[in-house]
Amino acid sequence: MRQYYCTFFMLLFASFLSGQQAKTYIKAGLFYDSEQNEFLENKLIVVENGLIVEVSDANKANTDGHRWIDLSAYVVLPGLIDAHTHVLFSQSPKDDFAEHSVITLTMESEALRVLRGSKRARSYLDVGITSIKDLGNSGLYLDVALRDAIEEGTVIGPRIFASGPILSAPGGQIYGVEPKHQDLISGEYRIIRGVEDAKIAVQEHVNQGVDLIKICADNLPNETVLSLEEMQAIVRTAHGYGLKVTAHAVTDESAQKAIEAGVDGIEHGFNISDSTLNMMAKKDVYLVPTENSREYMELFSELAGYDFGSDQWIDRYREAMTERLQKAIKIGVTIVAGSDNYNELNVSRGSSSIDMFKAYFDSGMTPLDILQSATILSATHLGKQNEIGVLKKGAKADIIALKGNVLTEFYPTIKRVVFVMKDGKIVKSAD
Ligand SMILES: [Zn+2]
Repeated sequence: MRQYYCTFFMLLFASFLSGQQAKTYIKAGLFYDSEQNEFLENKLIVVENGLIVEVSDANKANTDGHRWIDLSAYVVLPGLIDAHTHVLFSQSPKDDFAEHSVITLTMESEALRVLRGSKRARSYLDVGITSIKDLGNSGLYLDVALRDAIEEGTVIGPRIFASGPILSAPGGQIYGVEPKHQDLISGEYRIIRGVEDAKIAVQEHVNQGVDLIKICADNLPNETVLSLEEMQAIVRTAHGYGLKVTAHAVTDESAQKAIEAGVDGIEHGFNISDSTLNMMAKKDVYLVPTENSREYMELFSELAGYDFGSDQWIDRYREAMTERLQKAIKIGVTIVAGSDNYNELNVSRGSSSIDMFKAYFDSGMTPLDILQSATILSATHLGKQNEIGVLKKGAKADIIALKGNVLTEFYPTIKRVVFVMKDGKIVKSAD
């Protein structure tokens, strides 16, 4: 009897659901095909139950009786991806990173930290970023908690791919902490003590439901580094569970060692050499160039209160970043877009993050290549190329629209996001 009722209600529920969720037709002005890296005209996207069920020529479809969204005046793209965020961490430009990390761990409750993080996460949707890869500095799995809250609809925000605590050598990135207080650091980093421990750390992360593994190949200004054998154990174990591994690497030496260990990606790579870039191209290891535009650096410098020839310092920084990015592209390294912006610059976190697009553009990347780095290339290196970063049958209905000409007026246009849909639900409307 009980089973009978169960079946009856399930049928009722299913018919109610299907009645509620008619197809939605979206007419695109220009349609971005991220796989081919080109714009197409006259395309219609059909959305049902949060997924794209068809992409067809606009004049062929019969749209009678279905919901209709006219984006024919706009450029339509898959939701963008920021592959390097820290939504559970924030500091002012005047703050010292290590001091502020200690304050965060001792004076900001986990509850408050997550609530603040959820507001930052929400702001990514407003700028058209519908997925983020959150790479640590998030306490003990607060990123996983926020991801789940968003996924179940408790909180509105982008899709989060969470790394959990960063795996790192003793001290993590929090310098200057006395021996008796080193335990504090374990609240923010998973400290690795040997090859066997490296394997256990990945298993702990797997049990907590992380989506990928982030390691610190170097810890500068702390001098400690993970050994090659520790990184190999991490990569082997993570890959065994189907998880990608991405490595923070500032020095060329640590980047090389991480690549030798088999990581999937390098974050930052500020001082990377040509031979390391060649290794990356050969082994298909992607680079996330977390660089900022001149305008960002000037504002940061002003807010930080720097009064020493900051113009020259910024000039040198921008020259080095431009040279590095152009070399990487020439050598054939895959570029994945990631901001790493965690400073409070009097704008929302999402607005601050899209500065990376300006930086890449100023460093000589073409608009099309930037869009591909923030969509399908990013998705592919997460193993999610059929779900996000692409507008095709079976992908999640994460769809955005821009007003303007993204090819001739790239940055003003990419900032003008007029429509955002995530999982088939409209979060920002064009009218
Ligand atoms: Zn970072």
